[in-house]
Amino acid sequence: MATVLQAYQFALDPTPRKHGSLASHAGAALFAYNWGLELVTTRLDQRRAGQDVEVPWMLPELRREWNRAKHQVAPWWQENSKEAYNSGLDALARALKNWSDSRSGRRKGRTVGFPRRKKKRRARVACRFTTGQIKVLPDRQHVQLPRIGVVRTHESTRKLARRLEQGTARILAATISRRGDRWYVSFTVEVERAIPTSNGKPSVVGVDVGVRHLAVLSTGQTVANPRALEGSLRKLRRLNRELARRKPGSKHRNRTRRRLAQVHARAANLRRDAHHKLTSALATEHGTVVVERLNVAGMVRNRRLARAIADSGLGELRRLLAYKATWYGCRLVVADRFYPSSKTCSGCGWVKAKLTLAERTFRCEACGLVVDRDLNAARNFAKLVESVAQSGWETRNARGADQKPQRAGQVAMKREAGTGSYPDKTGIVEPQGLTA
Ligand SMILES: [Zn+2]
Repeated sequence: MATVLQAYQFALDPTPRKHGSLASHAGAALFAYNWGLELVTTRLDQRRAGQDVEVPWMLPELRREWNRAKHQVAPWWQENSKEAYNSGLDALARALKNWSDSRSGRRKGRTVGFPRRKKKRRARVACRFTTGQIKVLPDRQHVQLPRIGVVRTHESTRKLARRLEQGTARILAATISRRGDRWYVSFTVEVERAIPTSNGKPSVVGVDVGVRHLAVLSTGQTVANPRALEGSLRKLRRLNRELARRKPGSKHRNRTRRRLAQVHARAANLRRDAHHKLTSALATEHGTVVVERLNVAGMVRNRRLARAIADSGLGELRRLLAYKATWYGCRLVVADRFYPSSKTCSGCGWVKAKLTLAERTFRCEACGLVVDRDLNAARNFAKLVESVAQSGWETRNARGADQKPQRAGQVAMKREAGTGSYPDKTGIVEPQGLTA
């Protein structure tokens, strides 16, 4: 048995009153974020002007400043849980850290700009609770949150409730957020799971995660992007054009904006669903899955590809695969990013000097093999493992260096806005399920 962190998310069906309370908490988080940002900016200016002032940068300092100022700047602060303000300040502290890390070269990837004011309509508003009454009620149709109280869920909480009743799960935190017109609660849960060392399947499958398709497998199977998603993308393009025509501040503009948010939310759901299905199938049906380490940040910079890549959410897919492989005892091997999977012939190993992105078919000049580009890549990934088979957990990566296959999906949580990177273990959430 191993303890893993897992997120359980449920859509909510709040009454108008609860809706107001949820919005108030999210608004409070946003308020604290913007307030803190202004304070930091002012202090930085003062310091630049030669004044000897302290610039709050980390969460404890920001919190101290907030507690000093809140009676003045937000006399209504008691209407919301203090965790709402904390969520906003925490998000700010992380944004500041990302910026300074990026500046000093400690952070990889694209340059991170100085945090900007969050706008009410644009921001992903979220509030995270780590203490107080956080519960999944036994009727499996309601959850209880601090301050907000009991809220009806749109879907059954059965999956989580069952684990809580069995005593194999413990809720560490709850985050409320809004996407489109819908509110969600996401529970961060510590789960006891039996982690098998192997799923007993002998097969090795190479996966080429793509843009035109969701994935191409070395078995020859092509997993298409969900049809409905394409439809949603068409709708998004239309609504975006419509929005540009609407007068700012008009009723119609507001309506278009709301529709746009709904279609966005639906597209995200469809994509997530497809990713879950694919990764579960891969991790349960094959003993070893080989994928490529993708440089998503680097690819997104290429403007033409940007939309499509962001859409297919490759990073998300890899993240799901990492933790599902662990759960189901599947071996996940991640090939080096510089392995020429597309340029190498999967039949004879001949390497093509140049292959443009437009060339959809691979033609081998040595053995005459003609094969779909993505399938060729997928087969090369599968071969990568076959060639080093029986080497146990220590697998060679494509460049020949010893490398432990990435199997550490133990903490495979997506970090949410307004949450810390680790659940707050000092929280005093009632260990629901463990006491029963
Ligand atoms: Zn060949």
